[in-house]
Amino acid sequence: MRILVTGGAGFIGSALVRYLVLERGAHVLVVDKLTYAGNRASLHLCEGKPGFAFLQADIADGARMEAAFKAFGPDAVMHLAAESHVDRSILGAAPFIETNIVGTFTLLEAARAYHDGLAGAAKEAFRFLHVSTDEVFGSLGDTGAFSEVTPYDPRSPYSASKAASDHLVRAWHATYGLPAIVTNCSNNYGPYHFPEKLIPLIILNALESKALPVYGDGRHIRDWLFVEDHVRALVAVLERGRVGETYAVGGRSERRNLAVVETVCDILDELVPDASGARRRLITFVADRPGHDRRYAIDAAKIERELGWRPRESFESGIAQTVKWYLDNEWWWRPLRQGVYGGERLGLFPDA
Ligand code: NAD
Repeated sequence: MRILVTGGAGFIGSALVRYLVLERGAHVLVVDKLTYAGNRASLHLCEGKPGFAFLQADIADGARMEAAFKAFGPDAVMHLAAESHVDRSILGAAPFIETNIVGTFTLLEAARAYHDGLAGAAKEAFRFLHVSTDEVFGSLGDTGAFSEVTPYDPRSPYSASKAASDHLVRAWHATYGLPAIVTNCSNNYGPYHFPEKLIPLIILNALESKALPVYGDGRHIRDWLFVEDHVRALVAVLERGRVGETYAVGGRSERRNLAVVETVCDILDELVPDASGARRRLITFVADRPGHDRRYAIDAAKIERELGWRPRESFESGIAQTVKWYLDNEWWWRPLRQGVYGGERLGLFPDA
């Protein structure tokens, strides 16, 4: 299979590409702009493998997208390129509108033109899989869970831009017959996760005995899914999902943020004891994020029932693997941590 993966140098995209290239023998063209969040080092295991190709390009560049479709001739598109960090979207929404909305529109138009030009079995088999988030559904109270029929209620610039992109994809299916499928997934964690996100930030700060910032009262709840389980869900949806449908993906692993941070501290204490004492002492509550959604949870019954997908990792096994990966792969995270990437100082971690 020939798959064009956008955002393949990002956290989830690179896990997907590693799986497709190394375990499934697929031919993959990664299309990635290499923003601060894109990192070719995350694809080091795929470099030089037959079937792996990389194109540095912006999905909002229509001419380059059309040329990429023509040259590569994909059987499917898996669209993950996005601006993805909620805090950054609050500080400045423009790139989120440009990539998540205009970029998705541009990619859809290129895919539509390409699909229109296909014939017979190739046209029948073509798929456009749009990878989205459960954050489009807003915030839950103490009970209930998001599913494919939950009304949209995005509350951050990030989630609003992802909601817009979901609507565009569904409209391109309904209006132009583009064979699209949408997935909405809960919070992912795992190896190669950019260290501005909660779990890697906590692991690395804890290793260096720095403060472990927790928003508000730490009682915000997320439904955590190990990234490799998400990847298997995406491939199952691509191969066996029904066109025009949506699949909600989640790990049935709800945890309070504070509990997540405490778990990381405890694992690190066991693996690399800190002479100054238990790392929970480093937990520091900081002012809450504006509009911070209280609880997310996913009812994944549809993908479980229709496609037989289930997460393989529990939160406990996934988080243990993740902590271990960061301990073993300082070469990957140290340059990012020092705020140097591609020669640019990011200024993300002023005290790092
Ligand atoms: P990420 O920020 O780690 O990676 C995004 C990638 O997209 C980067 O490689 C970046 O260089 C690339 N990119 C950004 N703008 C681009 C542009 N204009 N053109 C081409 N490439 C561009 O994100 P992630 O966490 O891997 O998320 C991937 C997708 O999955 C996103 O669409 C996100 O909304 C969705 N998602 C993420 C989560 C999560 O927990 N991380 C959960 C559900 C859904």
